[in-house]
Amino acid sequence: MSQSVRQRVEELRRQIRHHDYLYYVEAKPEISDREYDRLMQELKDLEAAHPDLARPDSPTQRVGGQPIEGFQQVRHEIPMLSIDNTYSMEQLREFDARVARALGTGKYRYLVEPKIDGVAAAVRWENGSLRHVVTRGDGSVGDDVTNNAKRIGAIPLRLLEWHELPAHESQSRSTAQMPVPRVLEVRGEIYWPRDAFARFNAQRAAGGEEVFANPRNGAAGTLKQLDPRAVAQRGLSFIAHGLGVVEPMPAAGASEFNALLRQWGVPTNVQACLCEGIDKVVAAIDEWAEKRYDLPYETDGMVVKVDSFRQREDLGATSKYPRWCIAYKYAAERAGTRLHTVDFSVGRLGTITPVAHFDPVQLAGTTVVNATLHNFDQVARLDVRLGDQILVEKAGEIIPHVVQVDMAKRPRDAKPIAPPAKCPACGGPTQRDEGGVYVRCINPECPAQLKQRLQFFAGRGQMDVENLGPAIVDQLVDSGLVKHFADLYRLAKPQLLDLERMGEKSATALLANIQASRDRGMERLLAGLGIRHVGGRASQVLTEHFGGIDELAKAAQEELSAVHEIGPVIAASIYQFFHATQGREMIRQLKEVGVKMTGDRARRAPAKTPLAGKSVVVTGTLANYTRSQIEQKIKDAGGRVSSSVSKATDFVLVGADPGSKADKAKALGVRTLSQQELERMLQQGEGQ
Ligand SMILES: [Zn+2]
Repeated sequence: MSQSVRQRVEELRRQIRHHDYLYYVEAKPEISDREYDRLMQELKDLEAAHPDLARPDSPTQRVGGQPIEGFQQVRHEIPMLSIDNTYSMEQLREFDARVARALGTGKYRYLVEPKIDGVAAAVRWENGSLRHVVTRGDGSVGDDVTNNAKRIGAIPLRLLEWHELPAHESQSRSTAQMPVPRVLEVRGEIYWPRDAFARFNAQRAAGGEEVFANPRNGAAGTLKQLDPRAVAQRGLSFIAHGLGVVEPMPAAGASEFNALLRQWGVPTNVQACLCEGIDKVVAAIDEWAEKRYDLPYETDGMVVKVDSFRQREDLGATSKYPRWCIAYKYAAERAGTRLHTVDFSVGRLGTITPVAHFDPVQLAGTTVVNATLHNFDQVARLDVRLGDQILVEKAGEIIPHVVQVDMAKRPRDAKPIAPPAKCPACGGPTQRDEGGVYVRCINPECPAQLKQRLQFFAGRGQMDVENLGPAIVDQLVDSGLVKHFADLYRLAKPQLLDLERMGEKSATALLANIQASRDRGMERLLAGLGIRHVGGRASQVLTEHFGGIDELAKAAQEELSAVHEIGPVIAASIYQFFHATQGREMIRQLKEVGVKMTGDRARRAPAKTPLAGKSVVVTGTLANYTRSQIEQKIKDAGGRVSSSVSKATDFVLVGADPGSKADKAKALGVRTLSQQELERMLQQGEGQ
């Protein structure tokens, strides 16, 4: 193998680690996700072509991976104690008095930081390479979740030495130029950032799947997934907040240690502050009572710990808790109010959800006027009635909900809440799920459902039709222009111009967006169809297995449930969809308007196009295509797209105003292509 391949692999790994550092530790990414993906793809391709260059701590080891049977139990070398906690400032001051007494001095400092609501875990590197990730478990024995934790970008597979840091960092005074310890074990929190959690749950709900109650349960459930590929998509993160075995120990206190961790590429809490004296601690806690809702993760309190490691040793631990540390917890945000009305919203699958409307209350930093009652089982369990005095709770960004009714204050004329006999949107019949807790509208033409389904179909994870917002969808359905998904592709400009607030320019753009969505492929189409229990993940698996909607539609129920990750419930739901008139008609019409019905699997066995197996670099602006569209075309034709020109590059596609890549191609003697030449090559493939 040539020396240049080895060098390129090293260079790519270095670049990826560098960008991981900027992203996870500094939170200042310098390149787009797409550029990052390109680096990763190039590295993957090179490692695939040269298996002897593979390494267990290469950044590519974050992706792929085989499902496992179960989790090994691992004993913690140093037990992971839990933290004593309190809701009272008085007890916090008592804690401080005990610390002062035991140390016999007033000279100590506290490190105070938000307590992240996630899954505690020990992460261990040996000689700079990730060795294992073990959950806290019962404190002495936990589960080895390394395989899954490798999919969490914030946990470096290989630590950075100080000289590998970005230039501005390695030159700064804050860098101690301390080598990575031979053994480094940190304790920290694996958590699900609010945004990613909300996105995932919305997608699950849309697919008719069960949602996670909160990010902590979700993170715990995710870590226990047997298939690491399912973990990769959920966007979990990690922050270190403590230490286990560290050999040799390079720091005298936690704040100093944190600075070193960051330098080695391990994220620590940037909100941590050093406080001298308990009054400063109390002030910090007060300050975060409101500010914590702006954090990207859920937090229910602040952790207060003595900074100096020597003082920590002097203080020691009880059998349960360290004596140098305490968590102050904020009281859950609840408020009383009066329920005045309940109305019903109709979801994409016809589910009718009761929504409580009450007098405004302040909760978790916002004014709240309504809350979900989830379903009619919940209504019965709470025995909530109109006019009742109720208790509402809201934690962070979790949707507020009604937790309790004050029976003592129930007015004599309080009215019970009955499930509607007719759909509030279409007047059609409703029905309670068999054995289930939901009441649904069963009219297949219910406009409320159609609107929700259309919006979902056009959503970002699905067909991604930009600018097709709720206001436009409402008008399209109400005017009768759109009765099926396929009708979207039949829209003409004059019809759009009749809609409210629709100008020439936005109509043109919307039509172009709709047309562009035709080619999203099977995975996203399938996710958008709204088949119950079939969300993004199931769509991916099914696309990889079947490669086309027709093949999927023909599959027997047993064949479907034999696919890895597809259980009998999903299989039954898919089978029903493709064997019901409505589902078949939907697919027939979508085909008629030219929506692409195949996906990834077909792409893996590409036709013999002139681009098959070739490495292509794209530079400059192209006519009629965005960068990602042309890259997809190249990949569909069996080519590989990489981000930088080298001797291994086969073609450089040169658009208008090309960058230095075109010059480099010339210098290296790599063949350049015009857009026309490339299009001709693509067409040759289609003919076969
Ligand atoms: Zn309805």
